[in-house]
Amino acid sequence: MTNTEQDRWSRVKGRLRSSVGEDVYTSWFARMDLESVEQESVRLSVPTRFLKSWIQAHYAERVLTCWQAEMPEVHRVDLTVRTAMRCAAPAKEAPAPVDARRAERADGRPAPELRATAPVSASHDALGGSPLDPRLTFGSFVIGRSNTLAHAAARQVAEGRRGDAVMFNPLYIHAGVGLGKTHLLQAVTWAGNSGNERKVLYLTAEKFMYGFVAALKTQTALAFKEALRGIDVLVIDDLQFLQGKSTQAEFCHTLNALIDAGRQVVIAADRPPSDLESLDDRVRSRLAGGLVVEMSSLGEELRLGILKSRVAAARAHHASFDVPEPVLDYLARTITHNGRDLEGAINRLLAHSKLNAQPVTLEMAEREVRDLIRPQEPKRIKIEDIQRVVARQYNVSRSDLLSSRRTANVVRPRQVAMYLAKTLTLRSLPEIGRRFGGRDHTTVLHAVRKIEALVSKDAALSEEVESLKRQLQE
Ligand code: ADP
Ligand code: MG
Repeated sequence: MTNTEQDRWSRVKGRLRSSVGEDVYTSWFARMDLESVEQESVRLSVPTRFLKSWIQAHYAERVLTCWQAEMPEVHRVDLTVRTAMRCAAPAKEAPAPVDARRAERADGRPAPELRATAPVSASHDALGGSPLDPRLTFGSFVIGRSNTLAHAAARQVAEGRRGDAVMFNPLYIHAGVGLGKTHLLQAVTWAGNSGNERKVLYLTAEKFMYGFVAALKTQTALAFKEALRGIDVLVIDDLQFLQGKSTQAEFCHTLNALIDAGRQVVIAADRPPSDLESLDDRVRSRLAGGLVVEMSSLGEELRLGILKSRVAAARAHHASFDVPEPVLDYLARTITHNGRDLEGAINRLLAHSKLNAQPVTLEMAEREVRDLIRPQEPKRIKIEDIQRVVARQYNVSRSDLLSSRRTANVVRPRQVAMYLAKTLTLRSLPEIGRRFGGRDHTTVLHAVRKIEALVSKDAALSEEVESLKRQLQE
C-alpha cells in the first residue's frame, strides 16, 4: 500500500467521521481497514461479519460517496471480513458473494456492491441475560391508578412485532423500591420472547456492567457488543447502578446504535433520567427523549388486588389456604410500603397456617406481620417539584429560576429553591447547580448559607420556608 493510498484513506475516514458523527463512527468504523485500491474498486475490511452486514445495510452508500469525494473513479467498495486466522484459513473460504444489495440507486447506477470474503462465526453467546422469575408476567401484574400508564406502555412494547415502527424509545419507567418495575420489565421479556419472533434480552445494569468488563478481559468485547446489537428489544433493569466511565460510554453507544436502528429499549430505574447523576448529559437526554413514566406508590385498592392475586397463586399449590376478606383488608390498609412486603405477608400467613395447621385469622395476621407495618416513608422529593412549588409561591416561572436573571424578584426565590433542594433531597451541590441552569456549586453553597442565615433572623421568611416544606412533603 502506497503512502498516497494511506493518505487518501485517512481523508476518507475523516469524511466518514464528520458525515456520520463521532459516536456512530466509533461504533461502526473505528476498526475498518483499507486492504487495497484497484482502479475502480476499493477493498475494505472489518473484523467481524456482524460489522460487515451492518455497514452493508446502513452505510454502503455513504462509504462509497466518501471515497468518490477523494477518488471520483471509484465505483465499487468491497467489504471483507478479516480474521486473525485469515492466513491459515482453508481454501474453501474463498470469496463468495453474500446477499449483495443490488438495489437501483436514484441515478440508475447499481448500488455499491459489497462482498464478503471470509465468513466468521461471531460469538453470540457473549451475552446471557439475567435470570427471569416465571411468576413475573403480565398475567400476574395487577393494574391500578399508579401504574396504568406504565403498564399500557409496557404492553404496547411487548406486543410490537419485528419491523414495527417503535412508538416510544426508550421506554423509561421509574419508581421507588418494590413498586413493580422488575415485575413489569420481566413481563415484557416473557411476552416478547414467547412469540419467539423477536429477541428480547433482559439485563440488570450490573449484568451489563460485569458482562462488559468480563468481555473486555477475555478480549470478546466486540462479540459482546455485537450480541447486544443483534437483539430486538433490550430491557435494562436498575439503571441507577450503572457506573464507570467506560461502561457508560459503551452503554451510550449501545443505546444510540439500538435506537437509531429502530430497536426497542426499555429501562427501569429508581429515579427519573434527570436524577441519574453519574450519567453524562448526552445519555441523560437520550433517555429522556422517549417516554418517561413514573409509577407512584401503590394505592390501597391496588394493594388489595396484589394481595388477592398472591393468595390465588398460593392456593394453586395449597388448596386449603384461605385468607378471609377482613384480613386482606387489614393487610392492604396497614402494609402500605411496597409490593415486596405484601408478598412477604402472604408468605408468612401461608407458612404459619401450614405449619400449625390453623386457619388464618385477623389476630394471627396482626401478630405475624407486625414488623412489616412501617411508618410512612418520607416522600421522595424531586428538584423539579421544589422548583415548581417555589415558582408558584413567588409568582415567577420555573424558567426564571433557571435563568441567569439577577433581579431581586427571582434571586431570592432561586436561593430558597436551592436551599430546599439541599435540605430536602440527597443531591450534591454540583448536581443542584447543574439542575439550576448549570450554575457552579459555589453559587449553590452561597444560596444555602444565605437562606440559613436569613431564616434565623427573618420570621416571615422562616414561615414561608416552612410552608414550602409542608407543601412538598404532603
Ligand atoms: P421493584 O423492581 O420496583 O423494586 P418488583 O417488581 O420487584 O419491584 O416488585 C416487588 C414485589 O411486588 C414483587 O413480588 C411484585 O410481583 C409485586 N408487585 C409490585 N407491583 C405489582 C403489581 N402491580 N401487580 C402485582 N404484583 C406487583
Ligand atoms: Mg427491581
